[in-house]
Amino acid sequence: MTITRLSAQEVGAMGVDVGLPLLGCAPAHVFAEVLPVLTRYYTEGRASGFEHPVAHERVDPFTIFPQARTMIAVALPYRTAAGQAMERPAGARGFSSRYMWGEDYHRVLRDRLNALSVRLSEAVGRNVASVVCVDTSPLLDRAVAVLAGLGWIGKNTCLITSTHGSWVFLGALLVDVDVVASDGTAAAPPAPAALVGASAPARSAAPLTCLTPLMAPSVALSVMAPLALDQCGDCTLCLTACPTGALREPYILDSASCLSYITQASGHMPAEYRKPLGRRVWGCDTCQTVCPKNHVSLLAADPRLDPDEDTSYPDLMAILTMSNRAFMRRFGKTAGAWRGPTVWRRNALIALGNMRTHSALSAIIPYLTHERPELRGSAAWALRQIDAPGTRSAVAEALDRESDPDVRAEMLWAIE
Ligand code: SF4
Ligand code: SF4
Repeated sequence: MTITRLSAQEVGAMGVDVGLPLLGCAPAHVFAEVLPVLTRYYTEGRASGFEHPVAHERVDPFTIFPQARTMIAVALPYRTAAGQAMERPAGARGFSSRYMWGEDYHRVLRDRLNALSVRLSEAVGRNVASVVCVDTSPLLDRAVAVLAGLGWIGKNTCLITSTHGSWVFLGALLVDVDVVASDGTAAAPPAPAALVGASAPARSAAPLTCLTPLMAPSVALSVMAPLALDQCGDCTLCLTACPTGALREPYILDSASCLSYITQASGHMPAEYRKPLGRRVWGCDTCQTVCPKNHVSLLAADPRLDPDEDTSYPDLMAILTMSNRAFMRRFGKTAGAWRGPTVWRRNALIALGNMRTHSALSAIIPYLTHERPELRGSAAWALRQIDAPGTRSAVAEALDRESDPDVRAEMLWAIE
């Protein structure tokens, strides 16, 4: 027998079965109310360049999947108990963002969303057509999550859930099946909602939230209740803690000056971001770490997202000395390897400079003659920070052979 529609509760239970504990549904529709703020984000030059460039396609699920009937949004918690218990190992260790501590979340989410699609097909008695959206899809994932009732947008522009804070990966499954509220009523059409800030998407008046039976009833009820958009109140901790001022004002992120982007962008790292980088080698968690909503969040239990100390707190000198093949062996399964080893080596050089690690000189100095100009320049910068006996003469010697004008400028500054 073919079933034409499912209840939100049924879909939520399937989510739990496939490892997606936070799940919400919203009728597929164009959420054009977000378009003005999204357009402003692009026209003000705050986009990093990693985003899909066409604003109206980011609010239109039918661009990706014309038959879409329902948007199923999921938030996968990734702050695990094992990660919380892990301590920074001794030595010259950097720091990578928590989102890459476990297995690449793209793979984990895709596997589980595909499994959910299979479960949906079994439930309705036909092959459900679906499209998986994880990060690389044009669809604005935070807006879909808010529309589906999974949480709200904080001043740090992250989606914040009531149970796991902002430590969640977002994904969506567009399906050609109608999902109705658990009492069987049809979903109301989405209503325009007021926007809080330029990066904060509006939410539909009719999310079909289907939180899981695994959660305490009080938690589920609080999420089912209507959510205020602005739950930050007077707090501005994320804005004051941001090391680069990328959070220009509440809800306004300048992605191009966010360390999360800066650590991934190739080429020379602009000089003004090198000191704020500290010992980070991939990503930045500061605006999430300081958030009080995250201090009370639940921990996840998900073995695929459990950390490994060598990827969470990477050995900086090892990054400089390991082969490309060894790099892929160590980091290839994480979400931080897609740019390859060069940006990691650049970031490790700068982090070692910031940490003034004298014992790293033998690993840094060979980079003065590396084939990549950004690594030669970063090595010179790091040596200037460490400023130990012999560092200036090593840079001066490299300068004699250097022809790249940008690297020469770095080296001249380093020996001034
Ligand atoms: Fe600022 Fe770091 Fe947050 Fe980016 S990730 S906005 S740099 S605190
Ligand atoms: Fe909101 Fe404060 Fe969290 Fe920033 S740190 S997102 S202002 S609650």
